[in-house]
Amino acid sequence: MAIVVIKDKCKGCKLCIKACPFGAIDMIGKLAEINEKCTACKQCIPACPFDAIEDTEANAEAVDLSAYKHIWVYAEQRGGKMMNVALELIGEGYRLSREISDDTKVCAVLVGDKVDHLAKECFEYGADAVYLMEDPNLKNFTTDGYTKAMVDACKEYKPEIVIFGATHIGRDLAPRVAARLNTGLTADCTRLDVRVSTYIDYAKKNTTLDTSSLDENDPSTGLKQTRPAFGGNLMATIICPKTRPQMSTVRPGVMQKREPVPGATGEIIKVAVDVKESDIRTKVVEIVKSAKELVSLTDAEIICSGGRGLGDASGFDLIKKLADKVGGVVGSSRAAVDSGWIDHSHQVGQTGTTVKPKIYFACGISGAIQHLAGMQSSDIIVAINKDPDAPIFEVADYGIVGDLYKVIPQIIEEWDNAEKLYDASTK
Ligand SMILES: Cc1cc2nc3c(=O)[nH]c(=O)nc-3n(C[C@H](O)[C@H](O)[C@H](O)COP(=O)(O)OP(=O)(O)OC[C@H]3O[C@@H](n4cnc5c(N)ncnc54)[C@H](O)[C@@H]3O)c2cc1C
Repeated sequence: MAIVVIKDKCKGCKLCIKACPFGAIDMIGKLAEINEKCTACKQCIPACPFDAIEDTEANAEAVDLSAYKHIWVYAEQRGGKMMNVALELIGEGYRLSREISDDTKVCAVLVGDKVDHLAKECFEYGADAVYLMEDPNLKNFTTDGYTKAMVDACKEYKPEIVIFGATHIGRDLAPRVAARLNTGLTADCTRLDVRVSTYIDYAKKNTTLDTSSLDENDPSTGLKQTRPAFGGNLMATIICPKTRPQMSTVRPGVMQKREPVPGATGEIIKVAVDVKESDIRTKVVEIVKSAKELVSLTDAEIICSGGRGLGDASGFDLIKKLADKVGGVVGSSRAAVDSGWIDHSHQVGQTGTTVKPKIYFACGISGAIQHLAGMQSSDIIVAINKDPDAPIFEVADYGIVGDLYKVIPQIIEEWDNAEKLYDASTK
């Protein structure tokens, strides 16, 4: 806890209790005591007339930022199979590393047991080096085991930036690692920048972020982490100026993989792992894979999504028919999920999956900002909506104003006709 009450100085006047907006100070006997609700906002410090409250971290030794170097990407694997998001982040790390300096490397961090075969894939997708942490106690992901391994390695090798995929595992692991290293973490970033000039360029073209106080010739390369804030209604850019490493999570599907270079190689650094069974409070007894058919939206090239405009759950039969016809998978808006018409695994958007297919069909979806946040970087967007003023038409490449129950069957029919023509022409 950064904020503490100096017992010898406290007179029990309770002025700090009035000043605290979080109800984070209790009176224990005649002395004030900070409780777990404290957010270290420091409002209580000037409120105390007896200088009895202090921020223990205010005078803490400043971190030597220059001691930290290179970009680490947590190369998430499950059961010896690399997660796609890790390869996307290696691509992003590659871009950022080259912008920082010629001698900054992008390094994949592989944690597990007998996972060294995955290093090849990391190199092919752009990693300059692979930090390999292998141990039988790391065979399956456990929060305790992987946190200890990552924290020990970060302390020893001092990476400047560490990026995780915002998967279930990444979201569990990254905050713990950040807390143990006493550094910050920005979750669910949609954009990362190091060069001020690149950031200004991006912010001016794509967002309403205010860049007026920034100088495009500023040579600093601190990580600028941009993400939606306040329910997706605005974008915020977060920096981590005083501590290292700078840490972010990024959702699958947001960053671009590099074109793989077959046969590419690099340095493998074998990291000594000190994770004992007693360090891990949980035990993986059995791994039961979900019997439910899970949709893989992130990898789909064509997605046909339905929204509240379907009217009821049976509307998804038509969406499925369209998806089957065009070789796509079924997506949905949150309104359809909240109505209980389809499982959350199909949801596209800020609190669902971020997707980037070649073609995205939005059927009966209005185009709320939280939905757009998850699909607007699709290559081609086709919107079907009976309201000509629906916001989805602002991002659509092809907009069809009409009742989806009339439009979709026509698309399917035209597709059939085109297939027949194609078959006839190839006979
Ligand atoms: C913090 C937060 C997170 C959120 N996260 C997400 C998210 O991840 N994903 C998401 O989708 N939403 C999310 N939302 C909800 C979002 O704000 C919208 O409420 C939601 O996207 C609306 O879904 P919809 O477009 O299906 O429904 P509506 O907004 O009700 O739109 C229905 C559309 O269907 C059209 N329509 C009706 N009948 C027909 C017909 N017969 N033929 C053609 N068109 C028709 C209507 O004209 C209308 O435009 C989030 C909200 C919040 C606050």
